[in-house]
Amino acid sequence: MPDDDFGYTAWGRDWVRLAQPLLQTLPNPALPRARKLARAGGVQVTIDGRVVRGVVQRGRTTAVACIEVAPMSGETIAGITGQLSGARPVLTDEVHRTITEAGYRPAPALAGVDCSCPDDTGRCIHVLAVYYEMARRVDDDPRIALDVQEFFGGSSGSVRVPTAALPQRWIALNALDPAEYFTASK
Ligand SMILES: [Zn+2]
Repeated sequence: MPDDDFGYTAWGRDWVRLAQPLLQTLPNPALPRARKLARAGGVQVTIDGRVVRGVVQRGRTTAVACIEVAPMSGETIAGITGQLSGARPVLTDEVHRTITEAGYRPAPALAGVDCSCPDDTGRCIHVLAVYYEMARRVDDDPRIALDVQEFFGGSSGSVRVPTAALPQRWIALNALDPAEYFTASK
């Protein structure tokens, strides 16, 4: 069965790549299980600044996976900003390709991964499931891909509001500026 439902945009694909690195050659049986978890709604993700917290329900067990995304460098933010044209650019696949070809990496880099389960490899099924859930969210709104790397916070200097108290299906547009800066693609 194809898994086009995760990472059908270039922006979301960057998150799928965290679960499925291009260099990984051996099939990983955990990947289809992680996709199934995310697809079945078993992953509740909250994003607070650069920290993605996923509560993963699997059978009768619940694990909490935390993924900290590294901040984007000022150079990359400036480079990407320079590639965006118009007052309210839309983050299309074309924009992703243009940015990448210009030498700026829009894909997230990880600062740290942790999970409450006994598997401390950082590649447990819960962490993988959160990557897929993030891919789906980023597909829905690519602005999240940049926001979680402090693209907006770093450039605007705006004060972030605490997000822990917000509902679980909340989307990471806490600072409002992404919504003013970009137009959603749909
Ligand atoms: Zn785990």
